[in-house]
Amino acid sequence: MTAPQSTPTGVCSAASPPDGAIRVPAASGGVLTALGRYLVESRRVAFVHNARFSDDDKTFGVANVADDPDKVANGMGSIYGPSPVLTDIRTVLELGEPFAFIGKPCDISALRA
Ligand SMILES: Cc1cc2nc3c(=O)[nH]c(=O)nc-3n(C[C@H](O)[C@H](O)[C@H](O)COP(=O)(O)OP(=O)(O)OC[C@H]3O[C@@H](n4cnc5c(N)ncnc54)[C@H](O)[C@@H]3O)c2cc1C
Repeated sequence: MTAPQSTPTGVCSAASPPDGAIRVPAASGGVLTALGRYLVESRRVAFVHNARFSDDDKTFGVANVADDPDKVANGMGSIYGPSPVLTDIRTVLELGEPFAFIGKPCDISALRA
């Protein structure tokens, strides 16, 4: 991890997990996967909601609700295809459990709306 740098828009930091099994196949170093795994492992959240490749069609992404570190890692990497990860979000919200959400900026905007 490098020291935070001030930028015109905020603070910029760099980090990467030591575990090559995450760092190498992840999208860009695996920080999101490492953070998600940590949050679940330490019970700071009940689960992580991210995305994984669809079992039926590998060009599509689907929601991945991960309540253990290995399931979080099933979602690492980038899915450059249609990925409607919010289709069942009402059911997830109704669980009433604290969770971490990893998604695209448009997913985050929709979740906040
Ligand atoms: C060559 C290259 C260029 C890039 N350029 C840009 C850029 O210009 N702008 C930019 O914003 N990003 C860009 N990225 C992607 C960005 O760098 C990474 O997505 C981000 O840094 C996260 O990296 P990570 O290793 O921590 O992700 P990981 O630990 O691999 O985690 C990625 C997370 O995103 C989730 N996810 C993946 N695909 C989807 C999807 N379609 N919908 C919802 N969730 C999904 C996964 O489930 C996972 O939880 C680029 C990546 C590469 C390799």
